Amino acid sequence: MNFSTPIDKVSNIGPVYKKRLEKMKVKNVGDLLFHFPFRYEDLSRKTLISSIFHEEKYVVCGEVISISSGKTAYRHFSYSKAKIKDSSGEIEAVWFNQPYLAKTIKKGETLLLSGNVKRSKDGLCFTNPFFEKTDSLKKKNKLLPIYPETKGVSSKWIRFIISSVLEKIEIKETLPGETIRKNGLCSFSWALREIHSPSSFSAVKKAQKRISFERIFLLQLSLLKQKMALSLQKGVPVPIDIEKIQELVSQLPYKLTDAQKKAAWQILKDMEKSSPMNRLLEGDVGSGKTIVAVIASLVATRGKYQVVLMAPTEVLARQHFDEIAKLLWRFKIDIGLLTGKKDKIRSKKLKGDTLEISKEKLIKKIRDGELLFLVGTHALIEEKVRFKNLALVILDEQHRFGVEQRAKLCLKKSSGIPHLLSMTATPIPRTLALTVYGDLSLSVIDEMPKERKSVITKLVSPKKRKEAYEFIRKEIKKGRQAFFICPRIEESEEKNDSPWANLKSVEEEKENLSQKIFPEFRVGSLHGKMKSSEKEKTMKDFKRKKIDILVSTSVVEVGVDIRNAGIIVIEGAEMFGLAQLHQFRGRVGRGDFQSYCFLFTSSWGEKIKNRLNALLSSKTGFQLAEKDLELRGPGDFLGKRQWGNPDFTMNAFRDRSLVESAKDSAKNILQKDPNLTKHPSLRKRTELLKEKLHLE
Ligand code: ADP
Ligand code: MG
Repeated sequence: MNFSTPIDKVSNIGPVYKKRLEKMKVKNVGDLLFHFPFRYEDLSRKTLISSIFHEEKYVVCGEVISISSGKTAYRHFSYSKAKIKDSSGEIEAVWFNQPYLAKTIKKGETLLLSGNVKRSKDGLCFTNPFFEKTDSLKKKNKLLPIYPETKGVSSKWIRFIISSVLEKIEIKETLPGETIRKNGLCSFSWALREIHSPSSFSAVKKAQKRISFERIFLLQLSLLKQKMALSLQKGVPVPIDIEKIQELVSQLPYKLTDAQKKAAWQILKDMEKSSPMNRLLEGDVGSGKTIVAVIASLVATRGKYQVVLMAPTEVLARQHFDEIAKLLWRFKIDIGLLTGKKDKIRSKKLKGDTLEISKEKLIKKIRDGELLFLVGTHALIEEKVRFKNLALVILDEQHRFGVEQRAKLCLKKSSGIPHLLSMTATPIPRTLALTVYGDLSLSVIDEMPKERKSVITKLVSPKKRKEAYEFIRKEIKKGRQAFFICPRIEESEEKNDSPWANLKSVEEEKENLSQKIFPEFRVGSLHGKMKSSEKEKTMKDFKRKKIDILVSTSVVEVGVDIRNAGIIVIEGAEMFGLAQLHQFRGRVGRGDFQSYCFLFTSSWGEKIKNRLNALLSSKTGFQLAEKDLELRGPGDFLGKRQWGNPDFTMNAFRDRSLVESAKDSAKNILQKDPNLTKHPSLRKRTELLKEKLHLE
């Protein structure tokens, strides 16, 4: 038996349990041993029944002196009820909705009970306690592992199966000896045994640390290997053209912030090198990342190299196309746009005008190296685009793309690996950035343009809705424009099977606002299912102030830049993550006037209020990302799918010193043995991980 032995080859597991386990993504012995307990029942804190006086959590051990089942008088809930006796006294335990327990538990058996004691009309009593028959427990076990369960698979059963597997299996060490020694780790075998059959809390901690370390170590190993491989590749060195940069910058209606200048310089310095750049540009919403990317693009195109910029939505791609074309046409740089599959006509900017040419012609111009700058969506990857001389790939809102997509884009070149500039406004908290990005080069724009006022954010209770509408009316009369966001997810861009489907839809809300609430204003709508030309028209009208209120789905979540928009209303705000809400909020506050963000919710619970309140107190994306991490755990940042069931290793990603020592160890190993020839199993596992990783 080894880790890849299929689960149904384990004794006592037949087709029924196989199916049940598969539901928990347990397919082989390795999965089973990595099905970790999410908590431990501490049986050492046993109390005597006679010392129970309060409503509190207790652990007791005693003999069953009676067991029965019945239905409550009120609403007829079924229950099982047992009376337990120890040397000091007696106490009752009740389990609701589990009538079968009366058959499982037998008079005369010894039970361990752990759970909350509540006061009922018959006195103190355990309610729905955890229980275990003690004759089925190994006496030495003081800590009882409790696992994530599924229908028909109890913790007790998992414990039984795992302990039988642990008796038979030989667990080989997975980490190099020096790594174990240097970091004072325990062995893999010891760790797994302690996690499933712990001798003490401190042993569990040590074991968990070892497992977490290994995960982070492997991740770092994989990332560092990729980085080394990249640095050995031949890139496309692009000389810096200071004069042209100055010309561009002097045309801008604003001064670059120091942070923008610094980031641009770091990027240009990287692009000069003969090895390919891999740099992440992180900056809060509205911090001005686009212009930094345009500076890099100008330099590349001046050197007659090609640049491609990919954006996650069509709306954003079109915005970039329009804005960048305006900035670059004085340098006689044409720019093309490639989006969606259906429409055949693509545009090309020529002397400030848009020239419509066919898709085929556009693709040919790119292949021949005639067109230097191409902007687009995911469609860029699917289309048969080939570049003649690609030097720079820019990913806007990079967290929306997977590694494969990025790699595919980078491979559309003729010679040399292009430089890669990824941009994101969704800040990844520091420790996580360190973890998931390894040694990726990072530029941070940590400064907002000077004249910006921070957006006033308000959580609006249902009663205050009218008042908010009146306020908005006044603002629009002053000349401001407003976004209204409806929480219906874009089907084309996000998943379908969400609970969001029956929330306010854009069209309904547009009706409501234009007919009932704001009949005096012009209301437009935007969602992913509209035709490209309709979307384009709506965005143009909004930009030209022909529309006062734009009702939209999350298509405007990222990137959209409308300077005159002063208000954003978010319906069903509880349905969005904090980072996402922050992105929405970033759609306003781009001019020098005061802007507002109103959050409406369809339910009004404490928990929701607490979470949304974080948005009121945190002004920057960084603060919020930390908050999100605190409230939801790192799963959302790392992508749950890659990591299976969330478990303690998730939290380890926040442990900076652990992350750093894992990283150092990974570096050490690679320095001595860059191809991991001496560590074939590590090599295999890092390759597997590389395939799975969705982030950098
Ligand atoms: P993001 O970082 O969110 O992509 P954008 O690049 O869209 O931000 O910039 C937001 C807005 O700020 C744009 O209208 C842009 O023209 C403007 N902007 C960029 N840099 C500055 C600056 N240094 N001062 C004032 N406005 C700026
Ligand atoms: Mg942007």
